[in-house]
Amino acid sequence: MVNYKDLGLVNTRDMFAKAIKGGYAIPAFNFNNMEQLQAIVKAAVETKSPVILQVSKGARNYANQTLLRYMAEGAVEYAKELGCEKPEIVLHLDHGDSFELCKSCVDMGFSSVMIDGSHLPYEENVALTKKVVEYAHQFDVTVEGELGVLAGVEDEVSAEHHTYTNPEEVIDFATRTGCDSLAISIGTSHGAYKFKPEQCHVDPATGRLVPPPLAFDVLDAVMEKLPGFPIVLHGSSSVPQEYVDMINQYGGKLEAAIGIPEDELRKAAKSAVCKINIDSDSRLAMTAAVRKVFAEKPAEFDPRKYLGPARDEMEKLYKHKILNVLGSDNKLSC
Ligand SMILES: [Zn+2]
Repeated sequence: MVNYKDLGLVNTRDMFAKAIKGGYAIPAFNFNNMEQLQAIVKAAVETKSPVILQVSKGARNYANQTLLRYMAEGAVEYAKELGCEKPEIVLHLDHGDSFELCKSCVDMGFSSVMIDGSHLPYEENVALTKKVVEYAHQFDVTVEGELGVLAGVEDEVSAEHHTYTNPEEVIDFATRTGCDSLAISIGTSHGAYKFKPEQCHVDPATGRLVPPPLAFDVLDAVMEKLPGFPIVLHGSSSVPQEYVDMINQYGGKLEAAIGIPEDELRKAAKSAVCKINIDSDSRLAMTAAVRKVFAEKPAEFDPRKYLGPARDEMEKLYKHKILNVLGSDNKLSC
C-alpha cells in the first residue's frame, strides 16, 4: 500500500475548486510511454499549469500499471528538475470499470480514479460509484463518476450513440455516491472520428466540415442543479486538420476524421467544466511526426530520431491546449 502523497502527487479537490473559480479547465492527458510523459511534464512546467496524467485500461495493458505508476512518480521529480518546485500532478485512472481495479490503483499510489458505471442501469451505477468513493476517500483519493453515455471508441470503451446526461439525475447521483466530480455527456465522443461528414456542414470560409454544436443547454441545466460542482468532459480532442493532412501527406489514410472545435472547448473551460480529456490529438501529433521522418529519411533507424520529433510535436500540442484552449497556464507558484 502506497499513498499518493508519499509520491509527491496531489488529488483533484483543490485543483478543481480553483479551476471553477478561475474559469479554466485542467488538462487531462493520457499517457502510455516515456515520450508522451516527457512532453506532458515539459509542457506543464513551462506553462506553469497543473496537469492530470491519465492511465486507461488500454495503457495498463500496453505498458503495465506498475511501470506507469513509477513513471508518474518520476514525472514529479522530473518536473522539479525542470525548475518547478511545487508541481501539481494528479495520477488518475481513466475509465475504471470495477471496484477491484479502482482499489488496486488507490493502493498503488494513484491520487484520483474514475469509476465508469455509465453503461449500467442507474441504481447499479450509484451503488458501484458509492462503493469506490467509500474506499477511495479513506485515503483522500478523489473519484470521478459518469452519468450519460458518450459515443465513440476509446480503448475498450465504446458505444454507438450518445445518451445525453439527464440533468434530473445529477443531484441524486452526486449526493448518494459522494463522488468528487462528474463526467457528463453533452455531445463529445471518444476517438478521432467523432462525427460523420453527413452530420456536419461546410464552413464556406475554410471549406472545412463543422460538426454539430455541443449540448450546452444540458451543461447549463447540470450546472443549475449542482452549482459549483466539478464537471468533466471526455472525448474532447479537436483532431487538428494540420495533423490529419500531414499523416495523409506522408502515406497515412485518415479519412474524414473530425473532432470538437476548440472554440466550444474554450467556452466549456470557462464554466464548471474543470477537467477536459485529450488523448486522440496527441496520438495524431505523434503519428504525423513519425510518418514525416519515415517519409523524408527512409534510411533512419534510430528510434530516437523519430520518437524525438514526435515528442517535440506532442509538447507543442500540449502547450497549445494549455495556453489557447484550457487557460490553465500560470496557475503554479513555481
Ligand atoms: Zn473517456
